[in-house]
Amino acid sequence: MTNSPREFDLAVVGAGIVGLSCALAAARRHLRVVVIERNARACGASVRNFGLVTVTGQEREGVWHRARRSRQVWQEVAAQAGIPIVNQGLWVAARRRESAALLEAFLHSDMAEGCRLLTPSAARQQCPDLRTSGLEAVLWSPHELRVESRDAIPRLAEWLARDYGVTFRWETAVHAVDSPRLDTSRGAVSAAATVVCPGDDLVTLFPGRLAAAGIGRCTLQMLRLENPGFALPGTVMSDLSLVRYGGFASLPEAGALRRRLESEQGEYIRHGIHLIVAQASDGSLVVGDSHHYDPATAPFADERVAGLILDEYRAVTGQPPPAVRERWMGTYAVASERAVLVDAPLPRVRLVVVTSGVGASTGFAIGEEVISELFD
Ligand SMILES: Cc1cc2nc3c(=O)[nH]c(=O)nc-3n(C[C@H](O)[C@H](O)[C@H](O)COP(=O)(O)OP(=O)(O)OC[C@H]3O[C@@H](n4cnc5c(N)ncnc54)[C@H](O)[C@@H]3O)c2cc1C
Repeated sequence: MTNSPREFDLAVVGAGIVGLSCALAAARRHLRVVVIERNARACGASVRNFGLVTVTGQEREGVWHRARRSRQVWQEVAAQAGIPIVNQGLWVAARRRESAALLEAFLHSDMAEGCRLLTPSAARQQCPDLRTSGLEAVLWSPHELRVESRDAIPRLAEWLARDYGVTFRWETAVHAVDSPRLDTSRGAVSAAATVVCPGDDLVTLFPGRLAAAGIGRCTLQMLRLENPGFALPGTVMSDLSLVRYGGFASLPEAGALRRRLESEQGEYIRHGIHLIVAQASDGSLVVGDSHHYDPATAPFADERVAGLILDEYRAVTGQPPPAVRERWMGTYAVASERAVLVDAPLPRVRLVVVTSGVGASTGFAIGEEVISELFD
């Protein structure tokens, strides 16, 4: 291989968490890496999310193991790249006896290692500020980490450039990949291997492969609320999350909960709403979310949906929601058949798309797998 500035061992398309994870895994092997990103900085799902590395409740096949590995890498990277871990742990507040029964069953599985089921009085003692009415039980998991994605992702890119010599080409769109050549909006780049990590851009590169894999798009509504004046015990979820996360939802006990939620919170289920409340270092709360499945990105936030999310916040905290500071929409790629697509559209080219809305939790593990398969 020559040392021409246009020649690399690996080209990565996309500077979201999946692209940066591939870049890190390759850079750790001392490969020469270029990351090519259409925008001036990452502004896709990877900076619009909760920044939550979720382990407990993740679907066993394809997600849970990867989440455990990714959490380890986040810990290493956070320390080295100066990315604060802003809080840890997960607090699932169950307000229905069906949820408590489901959590009880979950606690008997190996995926609950390190988790505890708290009685309502133990939970109130631990966090008196959360005054959930009709609380049945709380699942406490110590495994989750949270970073502030909008700061963490740029820091990760800066650190890769500074400490590993990764080259970044910002504001550069890749129009075609014909390995070893990539055609970009700023000329050709050559690389021995290419990993395309386009997030939910399903039309620019290999659209036929993405369509054949059944990949579509999901749009989510998000809010940031002012500091409520108290500290959360960890990231907070409620009953609705138990029918969304595969590690819970696949248990036989989930059927009874699903039926009850459909009758009591049918509108929430129709909008794909479940509650996640994640606290930032300034005390503000990132709160969401909803899930609407449509190939077109939805530009307009629906106030009715935001109202439902805030009602669930009120039910779980027992407190009125603080003022809304920010609202935004996020989108990510989805497919019903798989958690992640790793495809080989050409020799030495991999197309990598997380299709289950858990890229912050699994990206580092996926990056290691892809790079080891390409370079071992
Ligand atoms: C609101 C919301 C909340 C979420 N919460 C969580 C969470 O708490 N925990 C969790 O694990 N996951 C969460 N997710 C999911 C997670 O954010 C995604 O799975 C992950 O960010 C996907 O990363 P990515 O790198 O594939 O995509 P992206 O972050 O979208 O990055 C893809 C990048 O590729 C670039 N690109 C695409 N095509 C080209 C091209 N041809 N040329 C140049 N550049 C190109 C794009 O500009 C983009 O920057 C959430 C997602 C959303 C939207």
